[in-house]
Amino acid sequence: MKLATVRHEGRLQPGFLLDDRVYLLDEAVEKVAGRTSSFGTAWSPVGLLRVPDLERHLGELADVLPTLIERGDVTPHPLTDLGPPVPRPGKIICIGRNYAQHARETGSEIPTRPILFAKFATAVTGPFDDIVRPTEVTDLDYEAELCAVIGTAGRHIPKERALEHVVGYCCANDISARTAQLMLGDQWLRGKSFDTFCPIGPAIVTRDEVGDPQALRIRCRVDGEVRQDDTTGDMIFDVATLVSYCSDAFTLEPGDLMLTGTPAGVALGRDPPPWLQPGQRCEVEIERVGAIANRVVDEAAGA
Ligand code: MN
Repeated sequence: MKLATVRHEGRLQPGFLLDDRVYLLDEAVEKVAGRTSSFGTAWSPVGLLRVPDLERHLGELADVLPTLIERGDVTPHPLTDLGPPVPRPGKIICIGRNYAQHARETGSEIPTRPILFAKFATAVTGPFDDIVRPTEVTDLDYEAELCAVIGTAGRHIPKERALEHVVGYCCANDISARTAQLMLGDQWLRGKSFDTFCPIGPAIVTRDEVGDPQALRIRCRVDGEVRQDDTTGDMIFDVATLVSYCSDAFTLEPGDLMLTGTPAGVALGRDPPPWLQPGQRCEVEIERVGAIANRVVDEAAGA
């Protein structure tokens, strides 16, 4: 299943993607059950991860959906109605320099253990929302990343069981203001956490549909021009290792996001750097996970 949020009647509601169309989950469930959605309020975007027998419910829904859609019993929404699949994650854990070529292009050593940093939850924005370039920023950069969404809480999770704690995956763009990140004596947090600096989506694609998270082509395009093109197999530390490593330090909770690092090709690694400019459209596409596309707008323009 591809679990999403949909902006409908003035609020974010749980939804799902099927064949690149968006549906409201409650509407579909009501048509299946012939009554008010049995998921009820538990299907808030993070709460849905805590629903007992989630996989069984999703399986049953998936079985009948094609028929409902064919009959016109559920109505598709445009992709642009999608909100971030996890609107307010408890944690956004980011992994730095997790692809060797990217470490080299930033002039850094290949890490011997995972580099952890964070973004604040207020940076999260939807898969087709605008990225706002702050007034103080001229060096805005993109980072295409596979994002693992934690579904089951855990501490000291062994690597062999780590992927069982991941409910699914989405695309993320780890937008970065390079001066604010690297050159002002700050920790990376500020330059990584401006509002709208964490577009995610289009949906949480459940683990069973993604398969091996280390065998996915990952790409970033700016106005159609390919800037990053790699495979998640090139990660230095794989998703299972990262989940296990993080959980040795702190409890992972449902809805936590883990951005697993970016391949080579960011603007910072190019000469001259092709920083993101207002008006440009930045896309992140990951095999079997989908694609997000965000327009850059200038904060000063009042957009
Ligand atoms: Mn990153």
